[in-house]
Amino acid sequence: MTYRKILEEIFTEVQPYFGKGKVADYIPALERIDPKKFGIAIATVEGECFHFGDAQEAFSIQSISKVFTLSLVFRKHGDALWKRVGIEPSGTSFNSLVQLEYEKGIPRNPFINAGALVITDILISDEKDPKAYVLNFLKTISRNDYIHYDQVVVDSEKAHGYRNASLVNFMKSHQNIVNNVDDVLDVYFHHCSIAMSCIDLAKAMLYFSNHGILPSSGERLLTVSQAKRLNAVMMTCGFYDEAGEFAFRVGLPGKSGVGGGIVAVIPGKLSVAVWSPELNPKGNSIVGMKALELFTTKTGMSIF
Ligand code: GLN
Repeated sequence: MTYRKILEEIFTEVQPYFGKGKVADYIPALERIDPKKFGIAIATVEGECFHFGDAQEAFSIQSISKVFTLSLVFRKHGDALWKRVGIEPSGTSFNSLVQLEYEKGIPRNPFINAGALVITDILISDEKDPKAYVLNFLKTISRNDYIHYDQVVVDSEKAHGYRNASLVNFMKSHQNIVNNVDDVLDVYFHHCSIAMSCIDLAKAMLYFSNHGILPSSGERLLTVSQAKRLNAVMMTCGFYDEAGEFAFRVGLPGKSGVGGGIVAVIPGKLSVAVWSPELNPKGNSIVGMKALELFTTKTGMSIF
């Protein structure tokens, strides 16, 4: 069966899963999204791309951005990075504060908000213009110059960012934030507010599928070992307190965002991105998870 046919079948089979969740409502800018949107795209390491539905429409990538910022920082700092952020699944929600208290301001992993805020802090120390740096990186790896920050989402995040502000301040009190807390929040909210499509995201994730090499240019962005490690962190921590469920049902390293996007990687073969805005109570896309479960079941491809 062709990938195109598989994507069509998936769209038919996910229909009963619409209407069961809730679009992210923690900020007004995301509340307005049409819950019926559905897009899916596959990019192969050989350079092919297949897509279906609203796969060309840009949406708020939210926490999917954490994969890219982490890889930029990891590439530069290597394993020294893990002194400031852990690699263990948290078993708590993405914006949880509770573990930080007894772990002395060292977040459990780079994909919960606390961990991503530390990664942002490192980016600010390293780069003169961290916002431009991340955006340019995404434009290069997805080969799309139109990728941009959605200013409406940035403003909404800032107006409602009390929890993230408390996380940064708490970590600052433990000296695990070096820069000004407002600067860290500003850059973090910008990364969460990047708008990309499923096609952009599937292409952007290909270096994780291709052992660290960007297939379009042959450029090595991560060593083989670094790509393996970041895929492992996606596998164990990419879905917060639902990482076990995602591994059980889908069987791939991946990362979700509260915009309703999910990316996943089949090492050596392809990457896949799906978008459907209705979320379950853990902040992961209901239809997106089902679509990826169907994808690995139908193709027989997973890492297990
Ligand atoms: N902007 C969101 C936040 O910081 C990102 C969370 C997510 O996508 N899981 O709360």
